[in-house]
Amino acid sequence: MAELKVLIPREEIAKRVSELAAQITQDFAGQSVIFVGVLKGAAIFLSDLARQVKLDATFDFIGVSSYGNRPTPQKELQNGWDSTGEVKLTKDVDQSMQGKNVIVVEDILDTGLTLTYLKKLLLAHQPRSLKIAALLDKPSRRKLPLEGDYVGFKIPDEFVVGYGLDYAEKYRNLADVCIVPRE
Ligand code: 5GP
Repeated sequence: MAELKVLIPREEIAKRVSELAAQITQDFAGQSVIFVGVLKGAAIFLSDLARQVKLDATFDFIGVSSYGNRPTPQKELQNGWDSTGEVKLTKDVDQSMQGKNVIVVEDILDTGLTLTYLKKLLLAHQPRSLKIAALLDKPSRRKLPLEGDYVGFKIPDEFVVGYGLDYAEKYRNLADVCIVPRE
């Protein structure tokens, strides 16, 4: 495979994550929040973000997979996610969300299918508020109209890895966000 190319270096990520944390701290001043991380890609972003938010906060995690996508990593590179739009819940939240300030933490907002599904699911819990934090956003790939409330970086239509994001489960532990070149 061709060499990875750094798209967002670790220093820039750290700076932007601090800014997002400051914004969340300000928006929810005097209140508590639940961070709901979307497994597994958001684990690193959630961990860095939550530690800088100066609020009473708890964590939960939710797991999803899409039917009909991720056939091979190579196809991902060529077409991005080839989702059928059907999202399957693989792990539900553990605690009640009713009346709480919920912040869904996602690695990347791409077609919008996953977060649209999760938003609907979590709204059924009747939270006090529901916000979306996404480290990355690929607006050019959107299939459903959805915007993140706290977005780190808008990026072009490239397949990226690192800082939690994988390619066939590899590279999640890279400190920088890198592009996997299309060959
Ligand atoms: P959506 O439902 O918005 O299309 O997809 C969101 C999910 O697609 C993300 O949570 C992530 O798992 C996956 N995804 C989308 N783009 C990329 C990418 O460039 N790299 C990686 N590793 N995953 C991606």
